Amino acid sequence: MKIAAIEKDNIVIKEVNRISLDARQGAIVRVIGCGLCGSDIVKFVHKIAKDGTVLGHEIVAEIVEINSATDFKIGDEIVTSHHIPCGKCVYCKNGNVSMCKHFKETNISPGGFSEYVYLSEEHLKNVAYLKPENLDYIEASFYEPLGCCVRAVKRCDLLENSTAVVIGLGTIGILMSQALKAMGMKVIGCDLIDARIELAKQYGIDAINSKNIVTAQNYISSKTENYGADAIFMTSGADKAIEPALKFVRNGGKILVFSSTPHDNSAYPNNEIYYRELTVLGSYSPAPCDLKYSLDLLKQGKVKVKGLSTVYNLDDIMKAFDDTMSNKIMKAYVKVKQ
Ligand SMILES: [Zn+2]
Ligand SMILES: [Zn+2]
Repeated sequence: MKIAAIEKDNIVIKEVNRISLDARQGAIVRVIGCGLCGSDIVKFVHKIAKDGTVLGHEIVAEIVEINSATDFKIGDEIVTSHHIPCGKCVYCKNGNVSMCKHFKETNISPGGFSEYVYLSEEHLKNVAYLKPENLDYIEASFYEPLGCCVRAVKRCDLLENSTAVVIGLGTIGILMSQALKAMGMKVIGCDLIDARIELAKQYGIDAINSKNIVTAQNYISSKTENYGADAIFMTSGADKAIEPALKFVRNGGKILVFSSTPHDNSAYPNNEIYYRELTVLGSYSPAPCDLKYSLDLLKQGKVKVKGLSTVYNLDDIMKAFDDTMSNKIMKAYVKVKQ
């Protein structure tokens, strides 16, 4: 079978023995396609993943072998996520499932950018679902990234009709904005690139350019009876996104950090957090319940993703990485099954 593996500064296509179930419980799936996640880029660029790693986790796949107590059967087309919480540890009990040791240790094998993948029985039981018939493969591949956004909205625990500002209108910003709206919030999206603002508008998002912070702040004030936004969702990890976040959030409001930053020295000013009683919180990866909610949002058409992705063949995966890194495209979907 073909896999795309990291090799030094490249991702290369290799032919390896096709995996099979042998005596294991779970399923072997044939990958139809897999979305390229921002976290894959970070793992590749910052060399967090070692040579030989097969990245990719936003898969849509077909079951080709199965030994499971679940109702899944050969021929089923499914979506799945990659990590599963134990449900019993201190992290899980407190809702921080993505900090759970078991969550971090579980994964699909070898990775989504491979013709075949092994899913454990735990995956089938907790995070795999039949692909809804009204979604095409590319749309269904947003199941996991949208799940991450659902979790972020839940973690913010906002009152209905609150106003949220999303800073950064890349793919995740567009998903986050739609998830917020679907979950009962008012949303204003910001970016510095006009083309992204225009695209966000096509997905029904009230989007503005925040290059001029004062103008943007005035707009947000005018929509919030001069209070400012109840919450800011930082889908951009850039340092320069922190200043507008502090300007746009109301006193007592929340700032949700959803993106890694290219370096480690970014900081929120202590006095702003203290005197203005701000809450800064992070949200990383989804819980199984968020994934289920995400699939419902996609199935019901409450979050639209058609047109966001550019399709690449597995053989051209390096180009998918390059085009994503150079911001040439919004989102890459790697077609694995020809
Ligand atoms: Zn992801
Ligand atoms: Zn746990």
